[in-house]
Amino acid sequence: MAVIGDGTFFHSGITGLIDAVYNKSNVTVVILDNSATVMTGGQQHPATGDTLMGDKTNVIDIPTLCKSLGVKSVRVVDPYNYQECLDSVKDEIEKNETSVIITNRPCVLMPERIMDEPYVVDLDLCNGCSACFRISCPAIMASEETNEHGSPKALIDETLCTGCSLCTQVCKPDAIVLKSQFAKEFVIAMADMNFNILIVGVGGQGVLLASELISEVAIQSGLDVKKSEVHGMSQRGGVVSSHVKIAPKVYSPTIQYGQADVVLSFEKAEGLRAIDWMKRDGVAIVSTTALVPAIVTSSKNLSYPHDAVDRMKEKTGKVIALEADDIALELGNPRLVNTILLGVMSNYLPFDLDMWNQAIKDKVKAKFVDVNLKAFERGRSITE
Ligand code: SF4
Ligand code: SF4
Repeated sequence: MAVIGDGTFFHSGITGLIDAVYNKSNVTVVILDNSATVMTGGQQHPATGDTLMGDKTNVIDIPTLCKSLGVKSVRVVDPYNYQECLDSVKDEIEKNETSVIITNRPCVLMPERIMDEPYVVDLDLCNGCSACFRISCPAIMASEETNEHGSPKALIDETLCTGCSLCTQVCKPDAIVLKSQFAKEFVIAMADMNFNILIVGVGGQGVLLASELISEVAIQSGLDVKKSEVHGMSQRGGVVSSHVKIAPKVYSPTIQYGQADVVLSFEKAEGLRAIDWMKRDGVAIVSTTALVPAIVTSSKNLSYPHDAVDRMKEKTGKVIALEADDIALELGNPRLVNTILLGVMSNYLPFDLDMWNQAIKDKVKAKFVDVNLKAFERGRSITE
């Protein structure tokens, strides 16, 4: 058997197939046609229907091409159909000739990201058989729970699952279910203590300190917390974000698109960029701070979204926007924006004021504790 992608097939695989047919080789060639040349940057190829300059052109049909080269057995299969793929491979390798199997699902990353509803594993039903691990999906990993033999049960990272359903076809106890089916009981059971908080800003605004303070309060309340942070060129004003997930038990560290209960933004353009991560009934708390990146000020083509807060309000019901810079200056330190916004957010979480104050005392440098406590209190007094 030989396996080749569609881009490489057009680049250099056709000649090999011609040789195989001509020399009567007993080989089955599987062409993984995802209509993308992903390996080298996503260029068009003769089966995509677009030229390299982006104009429409005639598509070269891969099955017809293979038949024209002399391959007698050519079949197209759906790679999301596990049994069909298995049966096709078994049939074709039995034949004493050159044959071709073509899979026909588009790339999940380009030209646009395909993300259907994700699946989750019901750990009560999973028996740790490991069948789903063997399909090598990057979204499937070992959970901390094991079966009676010590083998790990499965866990699906919802942020990576594209909803292809392949894993469900190998799971005998039907432990893998669509999130919406499973969520009903799961979410209702944990609803009161289950929060996803996305904090965004730019380097130097204290995003990471804010996520530490939230985590500390949640941990002191006996909850599980997982964080995932992205900080690029933070010292140079680059984008910084932190996902904080809080629940009785948290499995994945990243918040899924559209699943943040709170978007806490220390800069308005970053708030606009993050707003689609928020649930429809979530709350966005945003500072009207505008930090225009150097790349925008030095470009004729880029512009800063000064109307970011209005655009956030168009997308979601609950946006609390505050002139946190002015409040911070009033309190004597422009770097207090993060603590002021945390104070606002604390109104939406069921943690006692004492716990927040203690976290600030534990995590903030001693000489800044008092002013941060004041900033927090000031934020907490803002409810709309
Ligand atoms: S549904 Fe597809 S993408 Fe999601 S975990 Fe299963 S195999 Fe992976
Ligand atoms: S195939 Fe099903 S039962 Fe087996 S490990 Fe995966 S989720 Fe669990």
